[in-house]
Amino acid sequence: TNEIYYDEDADVSHIEDKTVAVLGYGSQGHAHALNLQDSGVDVVVGLREGSSSRAAAQDEGLEVTTPVDAASRGDIVKMLVPDTVQPAVYEQIRDELDAGDTLQFAHGFNIHYGQIEPPEDVDVTMVAPKSPGHLVRRNYEKGEGTPGLLAIYQDATGEAKDEGLAYAKAIGCTRAGTIQTTFREETETDLFGEQAVLCGGVTDLVKAGFETLVDAGYSPEMAYFECLNELKLIVDLMYEGGHMEMWNSVSDTAEYGGLTRGESVIDREGMEEILEGVQNGEFAREWINENQANRPAYKQYRQAEQDHQIEAVGERLRDLFAWDEDEA
Ligand code: NDP
Ligand code: MG
Ligand code: MG
Repeated sequence: TNEIYYDEDADVSHIEDKTVAVLGYGSQGHAHALNLQDSGVDVVVGLREGSSSRAAAQDEGLEVTTPVDAASRGDIVKMLVPDTVQPAVYEQIRDELDAGDTLQFAHGFNIHYGQIEPPEDVDVTMVAPKSPGHLVRRNYEKGEGTPGLLAIYQDATGEAKDEGLAYAKAIGCTRAGTIQTTFREETETDLFGEQAVLCGGVTDLVKAGFETLVDAGYSPEMAYFECLNELKLIVDLMYEGGHMEMWNSVSDTAEYGGLTRGESVIDREGMEEILEGVQNGEFAREWINENQANRPAYKQYRQAEQDHQIEAVGERLRDLFAWDEDEA
């Protein structure tokens, strides 16, 4: 099992005299920059010319400059632009990485699949909240934390771990607990999870259930409630107390039916193939090529998803029924 670190294991003083260059001010970028600033760390935000995020960063009192200038001043360069644009941004800033600097990520894709190859004399680390950025910020402001990951790919200085833990503390991740992992483990489990379970698996499960009911003559509205809307209630219970909390909360009939029938819709071989494609780099190659070709398949899949009946049904129903907006 992996080591877990808390506030008492980390010391922000390891980065108090350093400057962190946060490249990007989106979901993660704004949260890291603001939490670091509130923790007393010097931050400079690097954004491209004409960036739509510039005003938001400046309104919070952050200094905004170009990615190249930020990286040249940063002792820690944090890559928080989208993963698909990181290799290009890296090419711009690579000459600004001095010996002993740190290149830090929040996801391992570009290092693990060799899209970014940093020089040997810099530390390469990952401090990654396991949560969207707005929650990283909101939790920090409430005095709470966000679970995080720490990984060290390259430790040129011998101080990568102390520095990484200091950064994790400064953004609130050691308040909740920060798990030690590796770039490989983080990247492969992340891709597998989002493909097989979280994003891919669950949407296809919902669509297949919806289509099965509608094709059998049931109303799309009932199919929508049953297969999509109620999913949140089930997942909330699982999130709070695991599968047992969920089984304990549904009827015995639902529990028996679920326990006996659920496995039959799962394709274990399909899951193993997904994992293999992640491990052998086939998925990464496909996605890199897809981006180089300006995303032709991605656009088609997205359009098909948009055109699926469940989208129109959901839009209508969400207008007709009062959902608590704050709940979502
Ligand atoms: P976002 O998509 O929110 O990043 C957008 C930021 O990047 C904006 O400031 C945008 O500025 C800038 N940007 C976009 N394109 C370019 C470009 N071509 N050149 C320069 N700047 C650009 O990213 P995320 O925060 O979602 O992801 C950042 C990293 O964090 C990724 O590695 C991701 O895997 C990781 N991560 C993300 C999580 C999440 O929940 N979102 C969770 C954990 C990790 P502009 O206005 O100029 O477009
Ligand atoms: Mg530098
Ligand atoms: Mg993920």
